[in-house]
Amino acid sequence: MTRVACKACAGEWPPKDHRIADLGLTVAYLHDDQFFAGWTLLVLKRHATELYDLTKDERSRLIEEVSEVAAALAMAFEPVKINYELLGNQLPHIHWHVIPRLANDPAPRDAVWTVIHEPKRLTSDALQERAALIRTHL
Ligand SMILES: [Zn+2]
Repeated sequence: MTRVACKACAGEWPPKDHRIADLGLTVAYLHDDQFFAGWTLLVLKRHATELYDLTKDERSRLIEEVSEVAAALAMAFEPVKINYELLGNQLPHIHWHVIPRLANDPAPRDAVWTVIHEPKRLTSDALQERAALIRTHL
């Protein structure tokens, strides 16, 4: 995929009102589906597809930023476990899914993708409230 055709580079995804914070190399957004409360996306600001496309310094900073977000989610949601997923099959622009798995998780041993559920979309107010909660811990 060329940069021109990339939805992340074009600013079409994730939705701008889902933005949590700019971390430097990446920007954090709340995922559309909040069935797993606190599901956060960390999107690289520049176009790159694979970890080996990054410089060593970028890779180090990236994992630091993923860890900062995970620590913030841990404080905000007190999860049992946090999942980290870097897939890119649907959108080959580096973005991490950082997903708190809470005590009431319906399938704590499974990856979220395999858990059949009705996507939970928050109201605009609830979305801003949740983003602000995470932001306070960053
Ligand atoms: Zn891109």
